[in-house]
Amino acid sequence: MTEKYLSDEDLLYLDENYKRIKEDIAEAAVKSGRTPDEVRLMAVTKTVMPVCINHIIGLGADLIGENKVQELLEKKEFLNTEGLEIHIIGHLQSNKVRKIIGEVGMIQSVDSLSLAEEISKRAVGNGSNMKILLEVNIGSEESKTGLSYEEAMERAFEFSELPGLDVRGFMAIPPVCDTSSQVRKYFEKMNELYLDAKNKLSGKAVIDTLSLGMSSDYREAVLEGSTLVRVGSALFGKRHY
Ligand SMILES: *Cc1c(COP(=O)(O)O)cnc(C)c1O
Repeated sequence: MTEKYLSDEDLLYLDENYKRIKEDIAEAAVKSGRTPDEVRLMAVTKTVMPVCINHIIGLGADLIGENKVQELLEKKEFLNTEGLEIHIIGHLQSNKVRKIIGEVGMIQSVDSLSLAEEISKRAVGNGSNMKILLEVNIGSEESKTGLSYEEAMERAFEFSELPGLDVRGFMAIPPVCDTSSQVRKYFEKMNELYLDAKNKLSGKAVIDTLSLGMSSDYREAVLEGSTLVRVGSALFGKRHY
């Protein structure tokens, strides 16, 4: 994880991507009847070097997402974390939970009762609350983790009863789609669940986050009501694992 200077070309590439994505989000937000500041941009930083992440932070990014606990903890000490919010967005094993309590602002990928219970236990032990999203497997794909769409509401109720858990909404990754109208159908379904939960859980939880949209479909996601898009490769370029 050694630091390295970025070339002028790299800097320009990052500057242009960041600017374009922010503009796209603002435009789609307005089209969806909202203001640009109602949709947050998360820079997804898996495999990305701290020097690149810090450049994006310098441009105004205030939210990053990492998939793996170990990678996050290794990189975090090199990041300009002043005012920076960090979320875990990848599948999380229960035995890693204790390492990230106090290190991240939200876990977006809560996909089972046992994981929710572990987060609850560790947050309480730390005297804190953890914000969480329920991850929904919206396309019912075998290859993906996540709760089923049908059980998501009931789980949201259940998790909101656990001490130390602050349920804020949902996250989903739709199946690969050929057309934007196909992907928008999945996002629309998620928005229905989100709006329904906002009502049904009022008084129990503040449901204010719908995390939908990645590099290939963040515009569609915002048009369908996403409040947080998770963008990696469109911002930083192709990932090298
Ligand atoms: C990697 C990842 C992203 C970003 O993907 P891109 O297509 O590179 O924008 C978003 N969300 C999750 C959960 C991811 O794992």
